[in-house]
Amino acid sequence: MPRYVVDEAALVRNLEILQDVSKRAGVRILLAQKAFSCTAVYPLCAKYLAGTTASSLFEAIHAKRHFPGEVHVFNPAFAAEEIDEVLATVDHIVLNSMRQVSLYAAKAHEKGVSVGLRVNPEVSVTTTPAYDACRPGSRFGVTRDALDAAGGLPGVVEGLHFHALCEQGVEEFRKVLAGFEAHFGDLVPALKWVNFGGGHHITRADYDVDGLVETLRSFQGRHPGVQIYLEPGEAIALNAGTLESRVLEMQPKGADGITNVILDVSAACHMPDVLEMPYTPPMLGAEKGAGGPYVYRFGGPTCLAGDEIGTYSFNRPLHDGDAVVFGDMAIYTMVKNNTFNGINLPDIVLRHADGREELLRRFSYDDFASRL
Ligand SMILES: *Cc1c(COP(=O)(O)O)cnc(C)c1O
Repeated sequence: MPRYVVDEAALVRNLEILQDVSKRAGVRILLAQKAFSCTAVYPLCAKYLAGTTASSLFEAIHAKRHFPGEVHVFNPAFAAEEIDEVLATVDHIVLNSMRQVSLYAAKAHEKGVSVGLRVNPEVSVTTTPAYDACRPGSRFGVTRDALDAAGGLPGVVEGLHFHALCEQGVEEFRKVLAGFEAHFGDLVPALKWVNFGGGHHITRADYDVDGLVETLRSFQGRHPGVQIYLEPGEAIALNAGTLESRVLEMQPKGADGITNVILDVSAACHMPDVLEMPYTPPMLGAEKGAGGPYVYRFGGPTCLAGDEIGTYSFNRPLHDGDAVVFGDMAIYTMVKNNTFNGINLPDIVLRHADGREELLRRFSYDDFASRL
């Protein structure tokens, strides 16, 4: 049975870095649940973080039930039939357009929910268009021109939000922040808070944490009294989990000289970002590419020809039944997987800091059938 194994010790190392940033820079850091919603570790994360952000009503409810702390929510367009429950659940709501503001801001304010507006800083620093919220024609955020055309920022709006990064460092953040201040800086003194979104790869080994703290502190120097939020997802559980699989079958060497290996995990079902981003995940004990003595192409047990995880090289031959372990599998996996082809979902296991393994969830036919 394949399994996602969440590594508590690695998670705590990330959380300590984030808590250090929040203390040194006086910022509040939220978990973006869409990347990682492992309920069992919410109480642990809550010891280090100020709260969560949600992309939907359900994520907001999940946070409210399981994660002590502030609950923020953003959606490009809230549905009228859900807005009352959303407002009863969250502390902060970020709206994406002036129409959303006119529909929901007054109601939110009446219910004690702090209202923010997502703005578009019009600085593209992400090379993958699918992850560039500032790409031409983007549906995210109000530009300064659109804001002015709508008559400016209504007094009920207490915060401004942008999200324009993806797996990026301080240098890119500074560029986006400069665009934000150029377009919207004059509005900041009237605000209670600003939210600089996610995509900050703060816990990556080569990330310039001191540079981030300095950038945030200098913003506060220019805009005293405004609370800064960051809402990373990836950075919370980066490299904090693996996906353990097994070789179901080694095929004979193909015409291209590479042996296909069928695993009991699928890119399409269990690590969809491998196909969507796309990227080749790290594999423990192997190198990416065809550079080594034993070269294998790994694929999933589905009907999809493109369900290939990648080609890797080993120093030793692989055999039927061998274990194959993928790294960095805590984020954008358990929240995004599916049962295409009726393939079961991997177990979810928490490896505690003392090494003890706890089975959090095992899936069965009923989980597959209950959605259909
Ligand atoms: C995706 C997203 C995040 C989290 O992004 P990461 O890349 O996982 O850090 C935060 N805020 C918003 C609005 C997002 O869309």
